[in-house]
Amino acid sequence: SGSDLAAALQRIDGRGYKAYKDIEGRWQMAAQQGGYCLCVDWVQGDPFASPSKCRVVLPAALAALPAQLVCSRTRRTAVCDYLTRSFGAAVAASGGDIRQQSGGWQGEKGGEMSVDKPGQHVLERTSVLILADGSVEARFTVALPARGRSVLGQWASSILLQNLPRYVHQGLQYAQQDRHALQRHVECVEDTQSLRDQLPALGLVSYLGDGSILPRKSGASDEPMAAAEAVPFRSPEALAVTVQLPNRGAVRGLGIRRVRGITLVVGGGFHGKSTVLEAIECGVYNKIPGDGRELIATDPCAVKIRAEDGRRVGSVNISPFLSNLPFGKDTRCFQTPDASGSTSQAANIQEVASNAMTRDARMLELVSGNREPITPFICKLPPLAALGVSCILVIGGSGQYFDVADTVICMDAYVPSDVTAAAQAISARHAGTGDRLPRHETYGDITPRTLVSVHPRPVSAHGRDLRVKTRTLHCIQLDQEGELDLSAVEQLVEVSQTRAIADALMKLRGALAGRGGPWTGRPLTQVLDALEAEMDERGVDALAGRSKPGNLARPRRFELAAAVNRLRTAQLRQ
Ligand code: ADP
Ligand code: MG
Repeated sequence: SGSDLAAALQRIDGRGYKAYKDIEGRWQMAAQQGGYCLCVDWVQGDPFASPSKCRVVLPAALAALPAQLVCSRTRRTAVCDYLTRSFGAAVAASGGDIRQQSGGWQGEKGGEMSVDKPGQHVLERTSVLILADGSVEARFTVALPARGRSVLGQWASSILLQNLPRYVHQGLQYAQQDRHALQRHVECVEDTQSLRDQLPALGLVSYLGDGSILPRKSGASDEPMAAAEAVPFRSPEALAVTVQLPNRGAVRGLGIRRVRGITLVVGGGFHGKSTVLEAIECGVYNKIPGDGRELIATDPCAVKIRAEDGRRVGSVNISPFLSNLPFGKDTRCFQTPDASGSTSQAANIQEVASNAMTRDARMLELVSGNREPITPFICKLPPLAALGVSCILVIGGSGQYFDVADTVICMDAYVPSDVTAAAQAISARHAGTGDRLPRHETYGDITPRTLVSVHPRPVSAHGRDLRVKTRTLHCIQLDQEGELDLSAVEQLVEVSQTRAIADALMKLRGALAGRGGPWTGRPLTQVLDALEAEMDERGVDALAGRSKPGNLARPRRFELAAAVNRLRTAQLRQ
């Protein structure tokens, strides 16, 4: 019970830091102490190590979530996201755990309690879970306090037995929540999800609702631009689609077509083209109320493609785009530790097997015949569309794309208009001037690949000897190969997703090293299917092995694959 934990902390007070190990385990709090169960899963080895991992589990009766809030996966995900934020806010508002640090090696240190901090997106997380029996589990870390290297049991006691119960009460119990805010959170997420689910039936790949605020506060902040400065989005009549949402009812917005789905976004510099594209890209995720992008939804399989100089490419068939590379380099099974702009883009497109190289006709004439190894992306757009792949392209300077576009949207001072007819008229007028690019009837081959190993060195069954540390949103540190650079993987939106990807790499490495493991010799797509199926069943914890981290968020298969594809030590085979 709580009194036992208090006694244990009193007993170890002033002893060497390792004595904290005594509090690992489950502590059931009496009703007057909160009635929840505190699990100290792992205690840090010293005051400077990463903080200790803990969980609280509130029985269903105590969490008291109304059935209507937990009746679907989407609703549960939204509730867990909300509770993560409210639990985190309760901890942050107190600020009382951190004492004036008295500095120096001998000084008092520790005391920080932390809960994973979500951004603008509502993702499946490991920070707060609703278990099958309706109980609520919340995970957090505590830097167990020390003076020098000795246990500060009194302080630890005040953190775990005085402050924590208050945070649990304020942050996790339904009765203490702002019911309207929670309901709004859930309904907002449900509406965006419904919008995304309806896209196929509407014949759309993306939707941007009227009134949406697309621009962000700054390059460094994902929060919406102040309402006074931002021009709300409004669809031109010609492209407007009305959609029924479960909570908001009917909404109007711009629909981007799935079939005949080559869409160009044009306009002068600084008129808001990139902002539209970025809003579409992150439309694969649900948002918090007030974000401004709640009515923007994109097909969950949409992938941003860009050139990525210097990336690693392993055994990718890039022959639809490239042939006749210098020194007869094989483009059907292309390998390089350091790809160029065009080869990286071709690999990026082929890897998602589903997108921009431009080369105008005049340049084609100069670098002509079979010395030019690159097939311009524009030539592949019609056959790609024939394969069922819709493309949305932002074009600054090249009018050549008018020849292949089905829809052309012009951004003018942040206001979109439909200029398809005008663009097609221009294209028709230039027909026969010799400016046309060669047409390609077929796309070319997309070759599946098998993941042979994630790391060449022999490893233990769980891959534990591979040290992986997530540094930032776009950087994973791996012991052997240095930094895995994910800066071109723009649809990663939270570092918690990056951490989950790092855990997935460990899991794959261990599984591939064990002979006859479930993934050996299977195509990469099946490996991704298996990882997704496990996450569907067990949540994001499925990537984390036996530990129960509170700081993971669910990555999409595309971002998981992007990490494997850029891993310099991964071996892939056609
Ligand atoms: P482009 O790609 O056409 O050059 P950007 O999308 O980069 O233009 O936008 C240029 C600037 O305008 C950015 O600083 C962006 O934040 C701002 N901006 C974009 N859309 C809006 C909008 N709807 N209202 C106000 N400012 C916007
Ligand atoms: Mg731009």
